[in-house]
Amino acid sequence: MDAISYQRAADVNCAIAAVQQPGAVFVGGGTNLLDLMKGGVTHPVTLIDVTRIDALQNIETLPDGGLRIGALVRNSDAANHALVRTRYPLLTEALLSGASGQLRNMATMGGNLMQRTRCGYFYDTAFAQCNKRAPGSGCAAIGGFNRMHAILGASPQCVAVNPSDMNVALAALDATVQVSGPRGARAIPIAQFHRLPGDRPDLDTTLQPGELITSVDLPPPAFSDHTHYLKVRDRASYAFALVSVAAALQMDGKTVRAARVALGGVAHRPWRASVVEQRITGHALSAATLREAASAELASAKPLDGNAFKVGLAQRAIVRSVLLAAGQSGDFA
Ligand SMILES: Cc1cc2nc3c(=O)[nH]c(=O)nc-3n(C[C@H](O)[C@H](O)[C@H](O)COP(=O)(O)OP(=O)(O)OC[C@H]3O[C@@H](n4cnc5c(N)ncnc54)[C@H](O)[C@@H]3O)c2cc1C
Repeated sequence: MDAISYQRAADVNCAIAAVQQPGAVFVGGGTNLLDLMKGGVTHPVTLIDVTRIDALQNIETLPDGGLRIGALVRNSDAANHALVRTRYPLLTEALLSGASGQLRNMATMGGNLMQRTRCGYFYDTAFAQCNKRAPGSGCAAIGGFNRMHAILGASPQCVAVNPSDMNVALAALDATVQVSGPRGARAIPIAQFHRLPGDRPDLDTTLQPGELITSVDLPPPAFSDHTHYLKVRDRASYAFALVSVAAALQMDGKTVRAARVALGGVAHRPWRASVVEQRITGHALSAATLREAASAELASAKPLDGNAFKVGLAQRAIVRSVLLAAGQSGDFA
């Protein structure tokens, strides 16, 4: 058993200073980190508990009309907050589709952004090969059991997917991740926060060592009226997405004025479906248009032995989710 020490940070500066110690990591709700520690996947020496930092517990309106959600707001509190429910219903839907009530009561915004892949080979240290866990060791998933894995943007080094539901909604909503670190504060657009694996699959995000996520900022709500989060999974609850689709539209009658679509369960990061967005914007929405757009979006998919089904599933999920966001029937032939 590893010996660990525990420190509670009183404010952002204390947290950033404390995490400079060798082997120190931040802990939020602990719902992912503690599992990784118990499984021997990660071996921190010191846990810096950031959950008592008062300044990061709030949800407040920004001067531009957007919304700031503190990094330590629990997933349940964010999902159920009146301003989130009414102005960003897509985020509420995505959050409530994740994990279970108990887990959402513990999980924080910052921890959810940073949660690690659920690839079984990453979690199971009995497998020597995992470039994410042990860089340079290989990838057991590529020739192994890869039903849950990536079909877009993967590399010969890693085919893992980002497991979060929240992150998919944040990608569609063009959120910004605010961080503070030893070199000061900076804002990271969500599209630049999560990485594709490339030749560094050990890095999930562009967060630098010692940086603390302080909030998630949402732009002024322009997509409140027509949204849908569709999560396709093996069980109705308490299961990670095989494929998910966050869809948000602005409509002029039956014509799409603006579209934001992001996919989950298909890549190492939330996948912004920009091909779909371009193809449907300015056009009357129909299942036929959407089918073509979804097919074009998935044209670059490279399925593995066990997950070819995800290509068609993602296409159908896009069609259904966008139709439902528009208020049309999601049933299509
Ligand atoms: C059984 C089970 C089922 C689940 N199902 C789903 C699901 O269906 N959908 C889904 O989206 N999620 C699911 N989850 C994952 C869950 O959402 C995450 O475990 C949770 O969001 C992590 O948040 P946390 O605050 O507990 O993070 P922690 O476990 O505390 O931390 C996770 C990581 O984030 C880092 N970190 C924490 N806070 C900060 C910060 N402020 N700044 C920088 N780094 C930070 C930590 O160092 C650690 O590396 C499931 C989890 C379990 C155990």
